[in-house]
Amino acid sequence: MTRLVLKFGGTSMGSPERIAHSAAIAAAEIANGHQVAVVVSAMAGETDRYLGHASALGGGLGEIETDTALAAGEQAAAALMALALKQLGLKARSVLAWQLPIEVEGPPGAARITGIDGEVLESLLAGGVIPVIAGFQGVDAQGRLVTLGRGGTDLSAAAIAAVLGADCDIYTDVDGVFTTDPRIEPKATRLERISHDEMLELAAMGAKVLQTRSVEYAKAKGVAMRVKSSFAPPGHSAGTEVVNESALAERRVVSGIAYARAQARIAIPGIEGSTSGPGAVFAALAAAGVHVDMIVQGRARSGGSNLEFSVEGRDLRAALAALAGYEGLGSAVGLAKVSVVGTGLRGRADVARTLYGVLEREAIEVRMLATSEIKISALVNEDALERAVRALHAAYRLDEA
Ligand code: ADP
Ligand code: ASP
Ligand code: MG
Repeated sequence: MTRLVLKFGGTSMGSPERIAHSAAIAAAEIANGHQVAVVVSAMAGETDRYLGHASALGGGLGEIETDTALAAGEQAAAALMALALKQLGLKARSVLAWQLPIEVEGPPGAARITGIDGEVLESLLAGGVIPVIAGFQGVDAQGRLVTLGRGGTDLSAAAIAAVLGADCDIYTDVDGVFTTDPRIEPKATRLERISHDEMLELAAMGAKVLQTRSVEYAKAKGVAMRVKSSFAPPGHSAGTEVVNESALAERRVVSGIAYARAQARIAIPGIEGSTSGPGAVFAALAAAGVHVDMIVQGRARSGGSNLEFSVEGRDLRAALAALAGYEGLGSAVGLAKVSVVGTGLRGRADVARTLYGVLEREAIEVRMLATSEIKISALVNEDALERAVRALHAAYRLDEA
């Protein structure tokens, strides 16, 4: 008997019918002899709906009352899933973060899990009751509900699986991790297996099929993680296994292409000195909570440095406010980032050449470039993004994977 944590995302919880279908998947795993705990996301659209209402009333992400509102989506979903399981003749109970508790630390909207008490879950499982845990939330030191960042139910599921010594199956609306988002490239192919490091990089570069921190968590705690489709009949999703690199038999150069929309670029010409040079710029941005992504620094003809960097579009306003004193401060929106990810990129000299070659043939301008050991990212105009994804997908022969 294996213990399984089954996580159902927003679309898998999107309507009473979808919840009933997801419940049937859990029932099938129990019929297979497994012990099951379920972790649920809010019904699709609920988190955005509450966020919209909170924003209209002056509370954005990062405000604690917003978190209490957002957490309501997962709480209702847990109760609805418990009802659906009961309808199938199973014993089930909704479990909210404070009832375990799931302890968290850090800012509202981006908390980290610091501990989970497994006692309640163990006693429910021992009594043959399926615990249905509300994802995306924990309780902070003041006893307040705090959320884990968008897509955070994946992290809740990985953490619950670690506490229960269970495998973690992430059920979503696609049949696993594909070579790129199948919504953009229908020729994308499903990966049988992917390494933690590649999955981490794809997720961090925008592939939202798994939340980045959930993959980090699963890797650190040795939780076996799979991505499956809740849209297939119970037991019929092939899915993708996230594994240690050493477990990957086949060697691919590139495993996938990820993208992130709504990026912005900021330029500051001719800056220097300890109070206004690059060090001061990045200190001001860090103080404003703005994450800087790609950076290009060049020498200005006047002396000093020309600095260009990219940020998430939603952070642009805060970034510009933090840098308001800089003369010649410029910015551009309407950009997107496309990233090629694969452990086979390690140590290869031709990675940038291939990427430039492909994008040049498509007449897509590369506005900025960044590399790491297993990825290369380019900033391009957002209106060319989908073409860039498809061209790179074809160039790396991912449609034949
Ligand atoms: P859930 O609500 O179940 O958490 P998400 O919307 O967060 O689902 O993630 C699933 C979506 O991720 C898919 O519908 C797909 O469009 C997108 N996606 C992006 N990149 C990939 C990829 N490489 N493989 C599979 N899905 C991807
Ligand atoms: N409901 C939350 C969100 O939409 C968390 C999740 O779905 O994982 O971001
Ligand atoms: Mg998700």
